[in-house]
Amino acid sequence: MFTIKNHLEIRNAHLIIGKVDTTVLAERYGTPLYVTNESRIVENFMAYRKAFPEADIYYAAKANGSFAILRILAREGAGADVFSYGELYMALLAGIPHEKLLFNGNSKTDFELKKAVELGVKVSVDSRDELHTLSEIAQKAGKDVEIAFRVNPDVSTKTHPKISTGLRTSKFGIPSEEVVSIYREASVLPGISPTGIHCHIGSQILDTAPFREATHKMMDLVEKVAALGIELKFVDMGSGLGIPYKKDGTQTPEPQDHADAILPVFEERTKALGISPKLILEPGRYIVGDTTILLAHVNTVKKAAKNFVGVDAGFNLLIRPTMYDSYHYAVVANKAASPPGETYTIVGPICETGDILAHDRALPRIEKGDLIALLDAGAYGFSMSSQYNGRPRCAEVLVKNGEAEVIRSAEDVGDLMAKQRLPSWLV
Ligand SMILES: *Cc1c(COP(=O)(O)O)cnc(C)c1O
Repeated sequence: MFTIKNHLEIRNAHLIIGKVDTTVLAERYGTPLYVTNESRIVENFMAYRKAFPEADIYYAAKANGSFAILRILAREGAGADVFSYGELYMALLAGIPHEKLLFNGNSKTDFELKKAVELGVKVSVDSRDELHTLSEIAQKAGKDVEIAFRVNPDVSTKTHPKISTGLRTSKFGIPSEEVVSIYREASVLPGISPTGIHCHIGSQILDTAPFREATHKMMDLVEKVAALGIELKFVDMGSGLGIPYKKDGTQTPEPQDHADAILPVFEERTKALGISPKLILEPGRYIVGDTTILLAHVNTVKKAAKNFVGVDAGFNLLIRPTMYDSYHYAVVANKAASPPGETYTIVGPICETGDILAHDRALPRIEKGDLIALLDAGAYGFSMSSQYNGRPRCAEVLVKNGEAEVIRSAEDVGDLMAKQRLPSWLV
């Protein structure tokens, strides 16, 4: 079985996370259950810190916006990349200072822009339209807002098309050929200080060449913008570093490889220009992906066209396999030391054919009541969950060195009804 020292281990044939037995957690808190190991978050964040000692690390809050997780990262000194007023609100509440936040997004509301201005947060502007709206809002508020333009560097990455964001046809960013003119325009607009430049080429990227290519393209743009007399204070290269979901022994890049791909280019080119902008990175998946497992109990085992194992978590809680054809390594957590006995397809309880969490896995013989752990569920897992099929969301537990505490209570049917009202004619 796959293990990571001090994070995922096997003891007495049980899967252990952060020195806590998963079967104990399942019994104590019920399933389905998301379990996150705090120590692993800190370790992953430190790996980025160490690889990029001069850079600012802005955690991409959308990967996992749970409040305790934001708090852990705030304490480690992370900034955050936020995509909505909700994420902005929670990041500030968690203790991330406003000067370490970047408000991203291709379609922000006027309300969101107002909040960014009022709270003194940098904005990544995604269109000319937004630039003018923001200028008006800042002017009215009597404030000056620092902005970056999100640019589309037109770099292709070998990742799933749904998570490739830097292609020419992507909805994100200003096309490269318009970048110079938009900085020129921004430099004379009231309330706007164009101080940065921003890109993000995609997610789950396992080859560092596109990062290097994007750095070159971004530095070409920085050079052109500098020629306008605008000296940029920060260059935000986004992130997108992938993690080894498959556990097939393939070497995958680490933050140090990410740094080796971009730092030499960044340093050489800024030096040649005689400028020293701050480098910003926005890792999400790498920081939280492997820190978390989703535990689910087996409700039924059925021999049909396939050996189906029906568990109590479905795409309502983990939509990645359904949406992105993603792979999550599965472990029978209460039989973690047993050899494979059968090939199983693990499915959820949702009324959709696509509700499949894991296809054709060789696993120990499974029966009703067994505990399945899906690994690497920390990024785009709970944060993409829903109540589809009338299913309250599950609890989240944080473990740390043998201790466990709930960081989000399980919802119940009251939460399904929480905001619903009957019109007068149906009461
Ligand atoms: C999603 C996103 C990230 C994080 O991507 P990961 O693949 O999770 O590292 C960073 N920056 C921006 C702008 C994003 O949209």
